[in-house]
Amino acid sequence: MADCLFCRIIRREIPAQIVQEDEHALVFRDIQPQAPTHVLVIPKKHFGSLLDTSDADAVLLGRLQAAARRFAAEAGLSSFRLVANNGRGAGQSVDHLHYHLLAGRAMQWPPG
Ligand code: 5GP
Ligand code: ZN
Repeated sequence: MADCLFCRIIRREIPAQIVQEDEHALVFRDIQPQAPTHVLVIPKKHFGSLLDTSDADAVLLGRLQAAARRFAAEAGLSSFRLVANNGRGAGQSVDHLHYHLLAGRAMQWPPG
């Protein structure tokens, strides 16, 4: 996607603090962190949100959780939250599927 913000980060057209990368996924620090550790886990393939994926993408979706687990393990996190906002009503502001990984502070439930 030519003008998708996160696709541009993947293509290195916009700088980001990338902390992990493999063939399928990118993990980088959120520009406006909401916790001491706040990274975004994204697929390199563009999807607007989880609603734009299908059952055929199940392996890729699993890889994103694996990437999150790898980051958490390497960062020594004993607890963290992994959350995806899907759609404006849920707070999604960037239309490229992403999981927020937040850690380093007490978390509230339910989230606001
Ligand atoms: P959403 O609101 O869609 O769930 O999450 C989008 C996230 O992307 C927000 O937490 C926001 O701070 C982050 N974000 C927006 N623009 C940029 C950017 O240019 N670089 C980085 N690293 N994060 C961004
Ligand atoms: Zn994109």
